[in-house]
Amino acid sequence: MNVNARVLVVEDQPLNMELAVAILENNGYEVWTASDAKECMAILQKGRPDIILMDIQMPGTDGLELTRLLRADPATQDLLIVALTAHAMEEDADRVRAAGCDGYLIKPIQTRLLAQQIAEFLADRPALSLDGVTEPSRTGYRAAKFKCASRQFGDPCP
Ligand code: MN
Repeated sequence: MNVNARVLVVEDQPLNMELAVAILENNGYEVWTASDAKECMAILQKGRPDIILMDIQMPGTDGLELTRLLRADPATQDLLIVALTAHAMEEDADRVRAAGCDGYLIKPIQTRLLAQQIAEFLADRPALSLDGVTEPSRTGYRAAKFKCASRQFGDPCP
């Protein structure tokens, strides 16, 4: 378990946010929150999370568009971004992947699995430089391959 890993949760629905924060904090994660694209951008001006949980359906700039914006910015292009989506159809997976997400989790959030799912995404990253400081522009931050979770982590992507 990646205790002390920083998770940025981008989610417009307060109840979903509350649930995600409670689960992740209970499992030792440091949780940052943003309820829209603007808040997300402001937080990323100040620091880098180890992983972003990105809600797809949001008013205004949605999660796909926000992911595209982050991928287009050298300062954030290598962040690990995992989509939260209510849709698991193949075309939706393709859209999530095309936007630049490293994988996705299916909503509703699975309370007993979320912390482990996040840990597995973090563990799947290529090895980082040991001190994490000398290569601030490292490109190894993202997941090695696109992955997803549906009923149980490890289920194949649709
Ligand atoms: Mn939403």
